[in-house]
Amino acid sequence: MVRIAIVTGAARGIGAATARRLAADGIAVAALDLEESAAAATAAAIVADGGSAIAVGADVSDADAVAAAVARVADELGAPTILVNNAGILRDNLLFKMTDGDWDAVMNVHLRGAFLMSRAVQAHQVAAKHGRIVNLSSTSALGNRGQANYAAAKAGLQGFTKTLAIELGRYGVTANAVAPGFIETDMTRATAERMGVPFEDFLAAAAAEIPVGRPGRPEDVAEAVAFFCSEGAGFVSGQVLYVAGGPRA
Ligand code: NAP
Repeated sequence: MVRIAIVTGAARGIGAATARRLAADGIAVAALDLEESAAAATAAAIVADGGSAIAVGADVSDADAVAAAVARVADELGAPTILVNNAGILRDNLLFKMTDGDWDAVMNVHLRGAFLMSRAVQAHQVAAKHGRIVNLSSTSALGNRGQANYAAAKAGLQGFTKTLAIELGRYGVTANAVAPGFIETDMTRATAERMGVPFEDFLAAAAAEIPVGRPGRPEDVAEAVAFFCSEGAGFVSGQVLYVAGGPRA
């Protein structure tokens, strides 16, 4: 039976790589992003490779949009039993300069978004008595200057993950978190720009701090997500896997 996954924030970066990696395992994928048009390239790439995918537009922090998106996936692809909560934003600032809006925006996308998506998808998982939820945390959960909002959200996702593992385990549903370190994406490119550092220099500085001697790639993270989503990982739940080229936790 073909399994069906929803990957949020799948227009680019880690989400796009994860969508393609899951499709390579024979999973039909709904590539969800804020704009359907932005996710279309990811879905098209999967279809071009012989897989099955649709693009879906939704803001994960909007309850009505989430309900409509999950219902559409169930109609067009089938009941989603795999969910990767990957959509994310940054609103970095030192605490004394961080605005209420910076705080709320990050909480809304990462925490409220993961909550709304998981609550909607678990209905299908419980009915199927099978499911996989993977949440994207970060090494920033351990604390990172300028990221009080993001670090709190990413640490919060770890507690959320462990609780889902406890609540949903009896229905054959696992929940795990992948916590990437420095990954080369538009998100880290934007951080370099904000700091006024050329991206190549930013990458080199990051690589110097990473034991394996290079920045991470979206595919490195996708590989870890694919493991947690696999059929064989059914006894692994409530875990946080740091994918950071070194220990970091
Ligand atoms: P990215 O390149 O910025 O991609 C994030 C995607 O999420 C974008 O396509 C974005 O759409 C989408 N998105 C943002 N808000 C959304 C919303 N409300 N609803 C639906 N989609 C939304 O980020 P990335 O670097 O691939 O990161 C992916 C995840 O990994 C994030 O959760 C991030 O926090 C985490 N992570 C990244 C790193 C890293 O080094 N890159 C490290 C640790 C953890 P728009 O383009 O329209 O905004």
